[in-house]
Amino acid sequence: MSTSIMNTYGQKNLQFSQGEGVWLMDDAGRRYLDGISGIGVNSLGHAHPNTTAVINEQACKLLHTSNLYHITNQQALAEKLTEITGLANCFFSNSGAEANEAAIKLARKYGANKGIEKPTVITFTGAFHGRTIATLTATGNEKLKDGFGPFPEGFIQCQYNDLASVEAQSSNTDIVAVLIETIQGEGGVNPANDEFLNGLRELCTANDWLLMLDEVQTGNGRTGHYFSYQAYDWQPDVLTTAKGLGNGLPIGACIASDKVADVLQPGSHGSTYGGNPLVTAVALNTINTILNNNLLANVQAMGNKLKNQLSDALKDHPQVVDIRGKGLMIGVELTKPCSDFIGRAIEKGVLICLSRDKVIRFLPPLIINEEEIDLLARTIITLIDGLGKES
Ligand SMILES: *Cc1c(COP(=O)(O)O)cnc(C)c1O
Repeated sequence: MSTSIMNTYGQKNLQFSQGEGVWLMDDAGRRYLDGISGIGVNSLGHAHPNTTAVINEQACKLLHTSNLYHITNQQALAEKLTEITGLANCFFSNSGAEANEAAIKLARKYGANKGIEKPTVITFTGAFHGRTIATLTATGNEKLKDGFGPFPEGFIQCQYNDLASVEAQSSNTDIVAVLIETIQGEGGVNPANDEFLNGLRELCTANDWLLMLDEVQTGNGRTGHYFSYQAYDWQPDVLTTAKGLGNGLPIGACIASDKVADVLQPGSHGSTYGGNPLVTAVALNTINTILNNNLLANVQAMGNKLKNQLSDALKDHPQVVDIRGKGLMIGVELTKPCSDFIGRAIEKGVLICLSRDKVIRFLPPLIINEEEIDLLARTIITLIDGLGKES
């Protein structure tokens, strides 16, 4: 591995030179089934012809102008996202953490406008919201935070899936918003239960807190709805997304409802690259490709198939604690850490990753088909069976 790159990732000794659909090829021409999509990013798979065509077309015209000028592609993408969500307007960033930063700043400003001196955002145990100082503060994982303090004020942590812990803050007049993942991805593929989310929506409305959903990972079709909250009959006040939106190009969005659409004003926030003509053209094309090709239905069908196959084969396995998730965001929790599992899957030509050491995580491209799901499931089941025999 290169010593000229900061050692922040603990990378595998493996590199790819080409991709096609759900497949990645290494330098020796070996093929790997991509069960992780660059951590939920390559939603349409690799080298999707639509993405390639849009990049080529836009690159011949214009890459970047800055947000000093109107950007037609950005406008079109914002209209699409507001049409899908019924929310009012968008701010574009380059990543998930930055989308959350925008949401946190919006919530603080919303509080400041109400005369709240120390606007405070509720976040949750097990949460992951990014690696910047504010989003790390909002993250509920002490291991990731170790050594990076002091952290800014204005965050309170409640218990995930415990409405009473949030209700207990009702008398806290500093609270302005609740920031939550509907399914915690990095936290171990932990879904929030329906009563909890429905209860949060009611509690936020009753207390005039903003319900801010971090759909950086769960958005863009991952769970079988375009955004995961669309399984419910309410809307968030703010929604952030990123990962799958650009199908590999860096883009994030913070989407606000009517209630808070005017909170951020000229000069109050910005990003040099955010929403440039190239990424917004690609993101709009990603959305249209997902919707026009019935990929949401495919995610539901393939997600159920994968989960059922895993459940049928593994539910009584002594080393399997739980199989959970929604759509193509699925985790298999084992009884103990399994860091060597990734390497064994690679030997079998399958890429998966871990979440919280003990959860084998699946985030395959949304275009995955039945045959590929079978192969993915079979390989992982065989490997987990192998674990059982060793202990
Ligand atoms: C990945 C992720 C982030 C951070 O996104 P980056 O693009 O890495 O900054 C934030 N929230 C959630 C839920 C994520 O899964």
